[in-house]
This record gives sequence, C-alpha cells and structure tokens, in this order.
Amino acid sequence: MNDKKKKLALHWKILIGMILGLIIGVLAVYLDGHTGIAAKQFITDWIKPFGKIFINMLKLIAMPLIIASLIKGVSDLQDISKLSKMGLRTIAIYVATTVIAVTIGLILVNVIRPGMGVSEATRTSLMNAYAQDATARISAAAEQAKHGPLQALVDIVPSNFFAAAGSNRNMLQVIFFAVFFGIGLILIPPEKAQPVKDFFDGFNEVILKLVDLIMLMAPYGVLALLAGLVVDAPSAELFQALLSYSLTVVAGLAVLILFFYPALVKVFTGRSPSFFFKGISPAQLLAFSTSSSAATLPVTMERVEEHLGVDKEVSSFVLPVGATVNMDGTSLYQAVAAVFIAQVMGMHLTLDAQLSIVITATLASIGSAAVPGAGMVMLVIVLNGAGIPEAGLALIFAVDRPLDMMRTIANVTGDATVSMIVAKSVDKLGTPKVKEWDDFA
Ligand code: ASP
Repeated sequence: MNDKKKKLALHWKILIGMILGLIIGVLAVYLDGHTGIAAKQFITDWIKPFGKIFINMLKLIAMPLIIASLIKGVSDLQDISKLSKMGLRTIAIYVATTVIAVTIGLILVNVIRPGMGVSEATRTSLMNAYAQDATARISAAAEQAKHGPLQALVDIVPSNFFAAAGSNRNMLQVIFFAVFFGIGLILIPPEKAQPVKDFFDGFNEVILKLVDLIMLMAPYGVLALLAGLVVDAPSAELFQALLSYSLTVVAGLAVLILFFYPALVKVFTGRSPSFFFKGISPAQLLAFSTSSSAATLPVTMERVEEHLGVDKEVSSFVLPVGATVNMDGTSLYQAVAAVFIAQVMGMHLTLDAQLSIVITATLASIGSAAVPGAGMVMLVIVLNGAGIPEAGLALIFAVDRPLDMMRTIANVTGDATVSMIVAKSVDKLGTPKVKEWDDFA
C-alpha cells in the first residue's frame, strides 16, 4: 500500500518510543521525589506490565520459530555435507569474533585503567550495598560449575522433546532436535518428505507474520520497558562512581558495533554500513530495550532475512545458534569487568592471568544464557580463573543493567554479521525484499 510507505520507518518509531519511555520514567522519579504523587508506583502498576507483555509475546514465538525455521532450513539443504560445512564455518567465525572482542576489551581496560580512579570510600559503600546481590550470583555460578567438563555437551541433548521445548532456556536442546529432525527429512524419500516440509514451510510463514504483528506493538512495548527501568534504577551517585568503568565497556562495545561489524560486513560481503544498519537497527533497539538476545531473536531473524538478504537456509541455523553461544558484547564486558575489579582491589594481573581471561571469557560468554544479567553470573567463572575475589562482583552491580542493554546490542549485531558472512561464503546472500509497512529506501 502506497500511503503506508510515507509512514515513519520502524526504527524511528521504536526510538521515539524509547525516548518517551525515558522521559516518562524520569518525570515519574522527579514527581515522586518532589511532590506527594506516587508516580513511581503508578508506572510500576500501570505501564511496566505492558513491557512485560511485549517481552512475553516475543519469547512466546521464539521456540516455534526456531523449530519451524530450522527444520525447514536444514531440510532445504539437500545434503548433509553442506550442513557440516556451514556449521563448522559458523562456529569458527563465532569463536574468532569473540576472541577479538575480549582482546579489544583487555586492551581498553589496560590503557584506560578505570579501576584506579575509585576511592576507598566508594569501594566500601559499593561492597556493602551489593554484597547480598553478589552472593546470589556467585551461588548461581557455583551451581553451574559443579558439573564435569563434558556437562555442556550432555546438556545439548534433551531426553524429552516436550520438556526441552518447555523452557526458553533450553534453546540449544531444541536446536539439536530440529537439526536432527531436518537431517532425517533429508534422508527419507523426497515424496515422503515433501508434505512434512510443506507443513513446516507454512508454519514458518505464520510465525514470521506474527513477528510482523508483534513489531507493530514494539514502539509502545519499549516505551513501557524503559519507563519501568528508569523508575527501578539505583541512584545516580553510584553511576557516577562507576563512570569510567562504564565508559570503558561502552567504548569497547562501540568499537565492535560501529566499526568492527560494519567493516567485516563490507570486507566479506561488500554491503555498505548504511545498508547494514538500516536493516538491523530495529533488532538493535529491541536488544537494548529487552537486554535479551533470546527475546530479540524473532526480530533478528526477520530483519536478517527480509532486510539484509540472508537466505533462510543460513539464517535459520546461524542465528538461533548465535543467540545462545555467540556473545561478543558479553565477553568484552566480562574481560573489562574482571580487570576493573582487580584494579579496584589493588591486584596486579600478570600477562598469564590476562591470557587466561581471554580463554575463560570466551568460554563464559558461550555458556551465558541469552537473558538479562546472565553475563554477570558467568563473570564469576572468569574471576575464578584469574584468581580475582568473587565478592568484587558487588562493585559493578549498580551499573550492570545499562551495560547489559548495551552488550546485548553487540551480541545481536555480531550474530547478524556472521550470518551475512556465512551466507556470502555459501552463495546464499541475495537482495532483500521490501516490507510494506517499513520504509526501506
Ligand atoms: N543479556 C545478554 C544477552 O541476552 C547476556 C548477558 O550478557 O547478560 O545477550
């Protein structure tokens, strides 16, 4: 429809929603502090729930989307050798980008040395204020570390499909089943496979339509999410104490998001940065608003397929796997946070210890779930590896949420970048389709 084309592009609408959410949140905090009006409670009771509903809608379709698109994607591959080629390439590029991200983080934190500026008083007050929260994260990490070295592998293979699909945390298990099922579909006679393929094809279309519908709600959803976040945020003083730490993380993430990924896209696929950002920006804004790569996944897939031209065969495999294992932003943050804590505690980290951070932060980011705050739980493992006291987690607690929002943007952008590179390498990067409700000029 032509008149719809004149409408504002989706990413602008989401951005306006975010800004309005921030303004409403700040206004509520002000009114609460300066007048008798219980504005914060009002936001919590009447606006925040809509943000929750929006996230639930996104999560609701994540599992069906993975199942439908992966089964379709794998079965379209014709032969299994193509799958293993794509799989190996994907994993290799994922690991390489993560190691580069950790290295960028380590360089920045060693040059900027944000931990040197934190006063003794601030250190004590942060440690006291957040000791309890830190303990909760430490015990969550201990739970994960209890198992043997191959536990991660065992965890990928579900013993019951419905139980696996019953929790969004089990995405890797569902990916395993869908790939396995897709392989079966390749191996049976084509006339038997066709109706099953057609079913999943149609199923996939329906889910993608649902993503479109949910995206219509996105500007309002992010408004509610951000207003809710602002009224829950801790005081600004704590933010200030951790300003240079936060800026170091943000600088590293900015290097990744603004330079590293667009450069990779340009070099390996020839597509321009403006094309890339126009295509992926709604997913980035959503990653920021939800702090969850898993919740953002349906939108990432839609954007990458429809707006960046990646074939479903590639995106349906690369993106769900990426959402769970490829977290460049998280690994960079873990490296900066670990060294920052060491600096504040007056520890000197040897080169060996820093190298161990490269390895453990890479592994820890792979092990982090794609949900808000997961990176901080796995940070405990990085701290353990480098011999830094876990209690130091309390130091960075106050600013974790905003940094989580930022690192999730990098996580999602990294996945999209790799999907384009892999698509190009197997000749599956085409011209994107245009959406009627979106201005794709
Ligand atoms: N929130 C991040 C994500 O979902 C993970 C983390 O770093 O906490 O990508």
